[in-house]
Amino acid sequence: MVRILSVLGAIAVSLAPLFLATSVQGHGHHSLEKRAGASTCKTTYTAVAPGQYPAIDCVPFTQDPQVLTWLKLVDFSKTPVFPPSADGVCPTDLTTIPKDQCWWTCQKCEAPDDITTCPTTGTWGLTYDDGPSPDSPRLYDNLLQHNQKATLFIVGSRAVSYPATLKRAYSEGHHIAIHTWSHSSMTSLSNEQIVAELKWTEKAIFDVIGVTPIYWRPPFGDVDNRVRNIATQLGYKTSIWTQDFDTNDWNIPAGTATPQSVVDTFKTWLTKIPTMKTGFIVLEHDLFPQEVDVSINGVLPIAYTTKGLTMEPIAQCLSDPKPYKEGAGSFKLSSSSNSSTVGGASGNNTKSGASGALTTTATQSKTLWVGGLGVVVAVIMSI
Ligand SMILES: [Zn+2]
Repeated sequence: MVRILSVLGAIAVSLAPLFLATSVQGHGHHSLEKRAGASTCKTTYTAVAPGQYPAIDCVPFTQDPQVLTWLKLVDFSKTPVFPPSADGVCPTDLTTIPKDQCWWTCQKCEAPDDITTCPTTGTWGLTYDDGPSPDSPRLYDNLLQHNQKATLFIVGSRAVSYPATLKRAYSEGHHIAIHTWSHSSMTSLSNEQIVAELKWTEKAIFDVIGVTPIYWRPPFGDVDNRVRNIATQLGYKTSIWTQDFDTNDWNIPAGTATPQSVVDTFKTWLTKIPTMKTGFIVLEHDLFPQEVDVSINGVLPIAYTTKGLTMEPIAQCLSDPKPYKEGAGSFKLSSSSNSSTVGGASGNNTKSGASGALTTTATQSKTLWVGGLGVVVAVIMSI
């Protein structure tokens, strides 16, 4: 036991600079899990054995024979040329970025095909990123109890680590989508690496659930016209989230947000939602226990009881009956939900419902904080 504790202690100490670096860096979200895995990545090419996958949380090698067949799917002469970024970090002088690069995180630029909102006012595109994790089943339990479906953006490295959890999510009708293999900043990668990140994740998901997701989300929202072009040529739809609709739940494990601040952020949206011209898509996560905690104990209970607010997977809010290349899969487009949203999501309902729900939040959110040890354990489990 002492030995185990000392090992845990050593790991905690060695990880401490990572947490510090995350908060100091101030860039993007959840650098945490990416950095946790990055130190062990090999720099010299190692072939992926038949039936196996690339190293967990590492950018896949592009010399791999499997990747070479995927590269043939993209005509890179049609891909715009922009230099790869430095780990997705915006340059100090934003005017140095060409306008036609349309870099979402740095220029707040949305391309015509980007999915960033749900069309109908009062409709919330419910999404969770970075799973499946050991904590995902607690989220799935909650969603099942409320007959609530979500879009789940799956990291390939997590899919091969927790295939049974992914299988459950799919069988319960959630909309499964791609969130890359290693969770790196896509603008920082070469064209070939971008293909490898997307296709290995597609394969990892297909090997578990037997369908090919069409929707993908760039980690950190880090996407520009070079990345978009490659994703589009591979047949994917780029799905981000509505600007400023980031719960910041990922900052709880990083130590720069609290469950209370996340719920407070969410509450400010409730006042905005009724007067918005469209619905919205929210960024949430199910990688770390604190993220699942704040969702099932803080955000979702309020959302479930807010009248005029309809939570739906992205494919549902876009009325897309076929979110996979093979078709609907286990996803069932609900026509009744959509029509009731159109008819029922009036501003009046939302206003009264929202104010009523707000009164229930304070007591719920006080008990959410989980100590840092949980993060360490989650990191260890996810490596
Ligand atoms: Zn992510």
